[in-house]
Amino acid sequence: MNSMDPTCSGETPVCQEGLRLASARPATLRPKRLMPVDQQRSLAGRYPLWVKGLSLLAFTWAFLGWLNETWFFQFNNSIWLNRYTEYVIILAFGIWRIVAEKNPYNRRRLIILVANVMVLWWLIPWLFPFIEPYMGYLGVLPAFPSLHTPGTLTFFLVLGAVFLFGRRVICGWNCPCVGIREVVGFPFRQADHVPRGRWAWRLRHLKWLWFALYLGAMWAMTRPANNITAGYLGFFGLMVALPYFFTMLLSPWIGNRGYCRYLCPYGATFGLLNKAGMFRIDYNADTCTQCGLCEKVCDMGIPVWKLGTAKGRIDTTECMGCGRCVTECPTQSLAFHDVRNLFFPTLRQDRVWLRRRADWNLPATRWRSAGFVLVLVMVLAGGWYYSGRIGSGAELINNLGTLCGLPILTW
Ligand code: SF4
Ligand code: SF4
Ligand code: SF4
Repeated sequence: MNSMDPTCSGETPVCQEGLRLASARPATLRPKRLMPVDQQRSLAGRYPLWVKGLSLLAFTWAFLGWLNETWFFQFNNSIWLNRYTEYVIILAFGIWRIVAEKNPYNRRRLIILVANVMVLWWLIPWLFPFIEPYMGYLGVLPAFPSLHTPGTLTFFLVLGAVFLFGRRVICGWNCPCVGIREVVGFPFRQADHVPRGRWAWRLRHLKWLWFALYLGAMWAMTRPANNITAGYLGFFGLMVALPYFFTMLLSPWIGNRGYCRYLCPYGATFGLLNKAGMFRIDYNADTCTQCGLCEKVCDMGIPVWKLGTAKGRIDTTECMGCGRCVTECPTQSLAFHDVRNLFFPTLRQDRVWLRRRADWNLPATRWRSAGFVLVLVMVLAGGWYYSGRIGSGAELINNLGTLCGLPILTW
C-alpha cells in the first residue's frame, strides 16, 4: 500500500499502478495491455477495437436521431430516432460505466449525472413538458429545463450555482452533453486520443469564437422578433448542434471532451463564472511530489501541477470539476474550494474528504443519497403536476406569486 495514501486500501492496485504509470513514462506512451471493459478508472486505459467501434456506433445513432428529428423527418418515433435517443444511449452506457468505474468519487458522480439526465432531461420534457418562465425572444418556447438557453429561469439559477460551486454543478454533474461523452466516450480518454501539450492547451481559446456567437444570440433575444433575429438564432443553433455531434465522431482524434475543451459556448460562459466565482482547486507545493498524475487523468488537458506550481492554485475557466485530479492525488496536495469554505474555513475538500463522501458504508452517504432521490422524485412529481394542471411557465410563476402573496408577474 502507498504509505502516503490512507484511502488507497479499497483499490490499492489501481493507486499503485497509477503512481507507477505516472512516474515511469510520459503521457504519450501507450499502456501495453488492453484494459478489460469492466475496469474503468481515472487513469485512462486502452480498450479493444470493438469497444471503440461500439462507442462510435452509439455516437452515430445519437446524431441520426437528431438529424431525423431536425431535417429528415423520416421516422416518427418517440424514442429511437429523435432527441431522446441520446438519453437512452446515456442510460445504457451509463450503467456499464457505473458498474465498471473504480474511483468511488467518480462512480458517485456518474450515478448522479446519469440520474439527472434521466429525470431532468428525458422524463420531464418527454412525459410532463411545460414551458418555463423566460425573458426575451427565443425563437422556440423553452420546455423545462432549458439551462443552456439564456433568458430562462433555469439558466439564471444555474449561473448562480456555478458562481458558488463552480462549473462542476453543470459540466461535472448535470449536462447531458458531457453525459454522453463521459459514458460513451470513455475508450477515447487514453493519451493516444486526447491531445495534450502546449499547442493543445493553447487551442482552448478557440471556444471564445463560439462564445462571441453566443453573445450575438443573447443580443438577438433582446430585439423584436423579425427575420434577422430569427435567422441568427437558427444559425446559432446550427453552429452549436453540428459541432456538438461532429466532435463525438471525431473522438478518436480529439478525445472524448473535444467539444467541451474547444467549442462549447455554454462551457465558456460557465468557465468565466468558474474563474470569477468561489470555485478553485487549492494546491500545496510542500507536499506535491510532481508525479504528474493529476495532469494525466484530466480529460480537459489542464496542466494541473504546472498551474499549481506557477499560481498556487488551479483556477482556470477550463476546469469542469470532475474531481479526478483531486481524488487521485496520492499526497493530497489538491483540494476543491467553493462557497462552503466561506462558512467552514477549515474544511479541506481533498482526496480523503471526497472519497469519504462517496463511501456507501457510511450512514451520512446513504442519507445524502436518499435526499437526492427524494429531490428527483419531487421534481418529477412537480413536472407531472404543472404539465397536467397548469401547463405553462407563465402560469407557474403566476401561481407561485399568488401562493407567496406577491403581485402577479408578467413577462
Ligand atoms: S462544456 Fe458545454 S457540453 Fe461540456 S459539459 Fe459544459 S455545458 Fe456541457
Ligand atoms: S498535485 Fe498530486 S498528483 Fe499532481 S503532481 Fe503533485 S503529487 Fe502528483
Ligand atoms: S483539473 Fe481536475 S477537476 Fe478540473 S477538469 Fe481536470 S481533472 Fe477534472
